[in-house]
Amino acid sequence: MVNLCEEAGCLDVSLSREDLSRPHDTTHDLLKVRYPLFTREQGKRQRLAKQALARSRDIMHEYESSLKEGAMPTPGDESALTNVPSCILCHKTVMQPCWFCTHCEDDVFICMSCDHQNEVAFANYHGHHDYHIHDLVRCQKAGEDDELPVEERLANLEEKFTTKFTTQEAAIKDLQDAVHERLGRVEQMIQLMLTSKGLGNGTSPNNPGPKRGRI
Ligand SMILES: [Zn+2]
Ligand SMILES: [Zn+2]
Ligand SMILES: [Zn+2]
Ligand SMILES: [Zn+2]
Repeated sequence: MVNLCEEAGCLDVSLSREDLSRPHDTTHDLLKVRYPLFTREQGKRQRLAKQALARSRDIMHEYESSLKEGAMPTPGDESALTNVPSCILCHKTVMQPCWFCTHCEDDVFICMSCDHQNEVAFANYHGHHDYHIHDLVRCQKAGEDDELPVEERLANLEEKFTTKFTTQEAAIKDLQDAVHERLGRVEQMIQLMLTSKGLGNGTSPNNPGPKRGRI
């Protein structure tokens, strides 16, 4: 897992790192989060992301095949094409790469140009998609992994997180760890005090525990 921010160029970076089993590159799957990916929610949000990615790729694939077959609707007969993937904000047909919501039950696509405007693009939007809460996956043609069997591809699936908050999440995690450590030490101290009075663990007729006053 690699964290990236939305700084220009950051999303297009390729990198190798010792903790990565394979070098990261721009073909990898990308998840955009607007709030920290808390540890307790991570599994669920990643699962939703994988499902959404598969769904968005299916839609794009279906749409592109229908174009190849020359099934473009004649003007006034849009109903012939059931699922034209279009941006919820500008309503233009989306091209890959684009973003797809992992939370919405409807198929919510957002084009790159609307996404670049961030919240401003939502000024006149009144649908179900929640800019501040819903995660987005980047829908783009799969990279070389496409050659691999589906199971292997899923196993290799890697999300990157574009968020300003990941450092905050790390800080919160550090704080939690520190509190746990403190509590652990307090427990140990209580245990020691009990033991020293012969009330705690480790006392038996054969092993009376440490003598009073000899901590
Ligand atoms: Zn960056
Ligand atoms: Zn990667
Ligand atoms: Zn758009
Ligand atoms: Zn949504």
